[in-house]
Amino acid sequence: MRKQRRYKTMRNKNTKLARLIVSFIFIVLFVVSIRSLIDIKTLYNGQEAQAFDLNNINSSSENKINEISNNLNRDLGTSYKKESTNGSFTQKNKFEVEDVAYLESYLSKEIKGEKCDRSYGKKVVYLTFDDGPSVTVTPKILDILKQENVHATFFLVGKAIDDNNNAKNLVKREVAEGHAIANHTYSHNYDYLYPGKKVNLDNFMSEIEKTNQSLRKILGDDFSTRVIRLPGGRMTWNIKDSDGVGKLDKFLHDKDYHEIDWNSLSKDAEGQHKNAEQLKQEVIKSVDGKEKAVILMHDTYGKEETAKALSGIIKYLKDQEYEFKIIR
Ligand SMILES: [Zn+2]
Repeated sequence: MRKQRRYKTMRNKNTKLARLIVSFIFIVLFVVSIRSLIDIKTLYNGQEAQAFDLNNINSSSENKINEISNNLNRDLGTSYKKESTNGSFTQKNKFEVEDVAYLESYLSKEIKGEKCDRSYGKKVVYLTFDDGPSVTVTPKILDILKQENVHATFFLVGKAIDDNNNAKNLVKREVAEGHAIANHTYSHNYDYLYPGKKVNLDNFMSEIEKTNQSLRKILGDDFSTRVIRLPGGRMTWNIKDSDGVGKLDKFLHDKDYHEIDWNSLSKDAEGQHKNAEQLKQEVIKSVDGKEKAVILMHDTYGKEETAKALSGIIKYLKDQEYEFKIIR
């Protein structure tokens, strides 16, 4: 009897020990896999939307996969380029590119007064220049960005590219110097794009495609951008025709295009003509308290004061500990 009981106790002990070992192995495996997941997420930050799209890919989407891998290579290329010029590879370089789908959703939540889940309390600024390139202002803007070692997103107008051969070289320079290229339609003509103050989908999309073609002639057939800005801004047309813009959004998202407005501006295209100091003050005023600031400026003809104001604006943003990112 006693022997049997002792045997039973020992068997219970062994079972407990085995359970303990199995639980321990399970916990170790769990911790290791979570760590790997975090590492992968950190490495591919900024590519999340593209990665997500892989779930929806079907057999006819081979081009899409190539595009995603090209984008990824380009991002890694940017990091390496920074490493060789700075001599140091920092975490900051890895996160220089912002995913446009994320930023689009951030801005629309901000307008509605909702909190965006991936804010993390980090201050990020996106310098954006519209309506270029111009052979008079764009080179000055590029020089200053280079001096300050920050990057911007250029919302290009197809017509401005095609009208001037030197403008074509500026597009090449923008890409070579690490800036992002976005599509701001071909003509920028409100009457054609928004007849009767309504977005005309056919006209709008044909202009987006026309500008893409102009860009491909300069940058190569594999060039593509997911980033679009409506001439005049979506805010303007939203008020006048919410239906038109809503339809446009769905249409754009189906093609993985994303439309970005701004939440800060220098007012270099609004109201009275302003000098460099006034433009800087407008930026300071509109950026105030923003965790993520998308700043609207222009590098088209006649915007010399914007170029003059730019280094002061960048220095102010650096003092405020903003991180600079491009939108892609
Ligand atoms: Zn514009």
